[in-house]
Amino acid sequence: MKKAAMMLVFLALFVTAFAGSASAASKTPKLYLNGQELQSASAPRIEKDTTYIPIRTVAEGMGFDVNWDKAAKQVSIHNGKSMIELTINKKIATVNGLSVALPTPAKIMGAGSTSTTMVPLRFISENMGLEVYYDSPSKSVYLYQNDASSGNGSGGATPSPAPTPTPTPTPTSTPGSGGTGSETPTPTPTPGSGGSTAPADATGLVTSIKYDGIGTTTIAYTGTVGDAQPFLMTGPDRIVMDIPAASFAADFANGFTATSAKMGEVVVDSQLLTKVRYSYYSDKPSTVRVVWDLQAAAEYAVTKGEGTIQLSLLGALEPVPTTPTTPSGDKIFKVVVDAGHGAHDPGAIGISKKTEKSFNLAIALKVNALLKAEPRIQPILTRSDDTFIALDERAAIANRLNADLFISIHANALPGSSASGTETYYNRADSKTFADIVHKHLLAATGLPDRKVQTAGFVVIKKTTMPAILTESGFLTNSKDEAILFNEQKQNEIAQALVDGIKEYLKLS
Ligand SMILES: [Zn+2]
Repeated sequence: MKKAAMMLVFLALFVTAFAGSASAASKTPKLYLNGQELQSASAPRIEKDTTYIPIRTVAEGMGFDVNWDKAAKQVSIHNGKSMIELTINKKIATVNGLSVALPTPAKIMGAGSTSTTMVPLRFISENMGLEVYYDSPSKSVYLYQNDASSGNGSGGATPSPAPTPTPTPTPTSTPGSGGTGSETPTPTPTPGSGGSTAPADATGLVTSIKYDGIGTTTIAYTGTVGDAQPFLMTGPDRIVMDIPAASFAADFANGFTATSAKMGEVVVDSQLLTKVRYSYYSDKPSTVRVVWDLQAAAEYAVTKGEGTIQLSLLGALEPVPTTPTTPSGDKIFKVVVDAGHGAHDPGAIGISKKTEKSFNLAIALKVNALLKAEPRIQPILTRSDDTFIALDERAAIANRLNADLFISIHANALPGSSASGTETYYNRADSKTFADIVHKHLLAATGLPDRKVQTAGFVVIKKTTMPAILTESGFLTNSKDEAILFNEQKQNEIAQALVDGIKEYLKLS
């Protein structure tokens, strides 16, 4: 049932995304100002790559007065500090007495009582201090007022002294009582003003969205949000996740180069991802949308915790049975790097209370970085931060990706003993050669006693379907081993040893 519902949602969005101009009427594009939908007789419109918006609706929503001089075919927009004058079909406008060029002239669109003056969006954003976000799937335009420049005609015109932000309708504690006749939730005030009030139907507040630079995006929230189910969309490839019943917290902080407090993006240098962006998707019901723009359709995993939603990119989805190749046609090997334990599962506790999970993650990240530099290896981390992932899921990630190799990174413990040394485990016969080769390199790097290659039934090396090994670099319960394992230089050598082993096994060295 859930699947059917998902499919419906997917179809709806798919249809919307490809509605195009031919059937634009079937889904009216919407216009939002500071997260609130603006009710207008005319929807935003795209003509010859220019997006036009109804100037009166937007300007009045920002607290400007709008006058229309029918004889002169001139619109004047003013708020006591700024004055913008536009003439229909003229490419020059006046902003605070200075001439400013428009990309295309203002136009009257529609007829009779529905005729509206439409102005190029770019002119509005540049001259009225608005940040613009265009959401392609819904064909909606999101405008956010920028505190610093609102209404001062900053686009090359003389800046007037810092204006007070124009009064957006003040949020009140009595949503629905507004006199506009619309039942729009209370609007979000100007970004950055710190006085954000959640729309009435938002039960959760997004407090931060952070990208770890590796592949995981963490969305933190307070309260309760609806069931966020990401889905893949194509043309261009992207993952879209809508978080129902969510709004942005007043103190929303993010790890992004935010373009405003309520929307932003981070540009990512990754094989898989070009950027992550976020904004409001809808205010009725209040919905926050996060979009991952991909280089190609990708496999991902979602982990939901208390107050967090994490989405990790695992690797590119291959078009059916083909294997990825380099431009010269060489196969690219997918290597899953599994940092053992995580979050509430610390693994072994060292003699000086250091945790195995942190050692495992440090090595996995170093291995990942080294493998990324290999043109014929695509590394995939099962976790890139302190997250808990079930053992079965770790194996499933590798199996779903049809990975070529799986390496699980651990450290040993034997409390009350002086045990010391390096071990490497495999389960199936097809993994023995891989274990032998990696062990040889790892042993040389740790310089610890050789506790040999061994077999064991650990879930991650048993349930994976490709050559899979598990390394135990040393014993955290041994002070000498522990010192080596947490020495930065030694960690680099251990990571390099694992990479050397992988490359030797794949005959890439
Ligand atoms: Zn372990």
